[in-house]
Amino acid sequence: MASSSVALTTAITTFLEIVKISENIDELPQYLQRWGLIPTEGVYKCPTCGNSLKLQRAQDSIDGWSWRCCHKVSLRKQARRVCGTRVAFRTGTVFARSKLSLLQILGFINLWVRCLPQTFVCEELKLSQKTAIEWASFCRKVCLEYFMCRPTKLGGPGTVVEIDESKFGRRKYHKGHRIEGQCVFGGFERGTGRVFMQWIEPGTTIISNCWKAYDVLHHEGYEHLKVNHSITFKDPETVAHTNSIQSSWRAAQPSTSGCIKGHEPGNLARYMFLERCGILQLDRTLEFFRMAGELYNPVAPREDLDEEWSDDGEDEDVIE
Ligand SMILES: [Zn+2]
Repeated sequence: MASSSVALTTAITTFLEIVKISENIDELPQYLQRWGLIPTEGVYKCPTCGNSLKLQRAQDSIDGWSWRCCHKVSLRKQARRVCGTRVAFRTGTVFARSKLSLLQILGFINLWVRCLPQTFVCEELKLSQKTAIEWASFCRKVCLEYFMCRPTKLGGPGTVVEIDESKFGRRKYHKGHRIEGQCVFGGFERGTGRVFMQWIEPGTTIISNCWKAYDVLHHEGYEHLKVNHSITFKDPETVAHTNSIQSSWRAAQPSTSGCIKGHEPGNLARYMFLERCGILQLDRTLEFFRMAGELYNPVAPREDLDEEWSDDGEDEDVIE
């Protein structure tokens, strides 16, 4: 790693740091690799011959870089030649579907995790409201997908877990394979910042320990049985802390016109992400980069992510 004048060890990655790094084209890939947003050379293999891909400057790429295979191959009795396979810099990464510059994307994430107003974000990054809404929705999706694909056990003696449920409304969720009315349950362990999120199919019978907060589920297509049986949580604490998480994260909902309001799983996931960063004293920007890099990793691609998403202005499903 080449040395850089930009310190990354501060508690908060500032917007100015993001700008400086993004404009430093020569060293930008090293930062993206350090943040886990693009693969490192050596682990990223050529799709043609299987040897390691190397980063090369490419003037015809929006980011100034592309991946190239420099391995020498021999075909039958012909002379050895360079494989030369090129892979686009953004292939398989969190940037892959975007037409924005890396400065705009990284800058957006930095301002989004710091909860800055959307109008300010649009002005600073020269984004349309529509693009900003799409990217905010995408960032919530990253939080949600990350927590959902990493089942975590919460609780145990002496721990306190906050829980909440959220439900997809009539809006489609990106190219939504989530069915209307599907429910997400979330749990958050105080002290450790551990997060649990899980889909619950409609029609599921939910057995809880007199969770008053779940009375509402009866009206939402779930059969809710109250049983006086301790499962994971103590009743008085559960009720109190359920109310606490619900009131706090609902209060944190964006109220700007155009933002998705209400009890939306992505908002719950975002709330849990922010809380977790607070408890563990994580730099929100770097933690988000790490999560996004794990989800969107060309070395280990995941087919279940909504790959039809893009910010090219043609996808109208996300917004009302
Ligand atoms: Zn090759």
